[in-house]
Amino acid sequence: MSTSPVRTIRHVIDGRETTGESSRTAPVWNPATGEHQADVLLAEPGDVDAAVRAARTALADWAETSLMRRSRLMFAFRNLVEKNLDDLARIVSAEHGKVLDDARGELVRGLEVIDFACGIPQLLKGEYSDQVSSGVDLFSFRQPLGVCAGITPFNFPAMVPLWMHPIAIATGNTFVLKPSERDPSASNLIAELYAEAGLPDGVFNIVHGDKVAVDAILDHPDIAAVSFVGSTPIARYVHERATAGGKRVQALGGAKNHAVVLPDADLDQAADHLVAAGYGSAGQRCMAISVAVAVGAAADPLVELVREKARAIKVGPGLDAGSEMGPVVSPEALARITDYIGSGVAAGADLVVDGRELDVEGGGFFVGPTLFDRVTPEMDVYREEIFGPVVAVVRVDTLEEAIDLINGNDLANGTAIFTTGGHAARLFQRSVQVGMIGVNVPIPVPMAFYSFGGWKDSLFGAHHIHGPEGVAFYTRAKAVTTRWPDDKPDNAKAEGAKTE
Ligand code: NAD
Repeated sequence: MSTSPVRTIRHVIDGRETTGESSRTAPVWNPATGEHQADVLLAEPGDVDAAVRAARTALADWAETSLMRRSRLMFAFRNLVEKNLDDLARIVSAEHGKVLDDARGELVRGLEVIDFACGIPQLLKGEYSDQVSSGVDLFSFRQPLGVCAGITPFNFPAMVPLWMHPIAIATGNTFVLKPSERDPSASNLIAELYAEAGLPDGVFNIVHGDKVAVDAILDHPDIAAVSFVGSTPIARYVHERATAGGKRVQALGGAKNHAVVLPDADLDQAADHLVAAGYGSAGQRCMAISVAVAVGAAADPLVELVREKARAIKVGPGLDAGSEMGPVVSPEALARITDYIGSGVAAGADLVVDGRELDVEGGGFFVGPTLFDRVTPEMDVYREEIFGPVVAVVRVDTLEEAIDLINGNDLANGTAIFTTGGHAARLFQRSVQVGMIGVNVPIPVPMAFYSFGGWKDSLFGAHHIHGPEGVAFYTRAKAVTTRWPDDKPDNAKAEGAKTE
């Protein structure tokens, strides 16, 4: 274990914080200063096993707990999350780096999933068909899967886990969460709030860790289902390994989201949206716009508008009230993003705004908003997910060309079109092979009562996350066919004789 004097973030198993068998740690940075602010424990397989055992033990009672009690508990948890929203947002900002408004925004979106989970009695209503055959009725109902696990990314350390565990728990499962090791603390406060709301020990557990913990989850025979959100190579790996062991898996991957801007759009408004969606949270959102596809005459004025607006963004520490964009999460992320900027220049793209020139005092992991023009599809800055504040403009002549470009990309999480033409918007929404689409809306994240998910290499598995598909994912259906023979007098007599 590290001998550094910083705080150590521990696992939460069976209602208690514990070090378990862990002796390895990873540093948690303050991205705004570069300071090493905490260590997080990295679980060994034995820690995962202890969490799964606690979740299994808790399952028997929790799965039998009445719907009304589960619903009331979700209401209590919801109110506590709302009451502690500012504390949670500060924790997220301090470890992730995003500005406080963004951190509050992710908590509000997470809260909406808990709102949805409060309606679990309504959501779990089954179907009933009377008299499907003479004297025969048929009905269905859904039951929990058992112990479910969640493995989550750094970029929404509160919201993405909240996409999972409120629905898993409300549907009667118990849960083991493996948060990102880069910003793990928000999850520990969430565990405290569940306990305060009255959730029994063992229903919600946290193991912190890296690949060792993930692999132990993927191989554990007593975990029934895995929800994963992260990059595409790891999503593919998680899906393959966990399904090979017979688990139900939803694995959401990376993104390269295109926004198409037609010449008839309100270009000033489109540029505002591109800047917010491209540089907000330093571009570290799975729904960030990283490619602007400028159609025909839209290109020159659009690039000029985005250039001006990108330069005006105030970059600084996430906890400073004046900051509009914070640092990126880690020194590795900073190095990766600046390398990509270099690769775009080397490949011949036109670097309109260079984020490497930004200078923020204090030693944090800062890179400024960056804009490339005249990017072509074979360049790395187009093909790969940079996951930083870099927007690439690709120029095309027609909407059809823009649609072909989008459909030629293996990542298919979100996309948007800016236009004042209904016909173009309709053609776009029907033709793009992408999971979430915005029309004059740059980040089309569905509300919690719909489901979230991309297509192609942005999602492996059959179910999107949260909303109705979340309920379906964490439960399985039974169909019961019943026939009750007539209660004939002879039978009644025989029954009576038996019980006397
Ligand atoms: P990541 O894939 O590096 O990590 C995600 C999780 O997987 C973490 O918990 C991490 O500990 C674990 N992990 C990392 N490497 C592993 C390995 N080799 N084996 C097993 N487990 C491993 O992702 P990240 O950098 O934390 O997050 C950013 C990525 O997540 C981006 O690609 C982004 O697009 C994606 N993302 C997608 C969505 C979506 O809804 N599709 C949402 C948020 C983020």
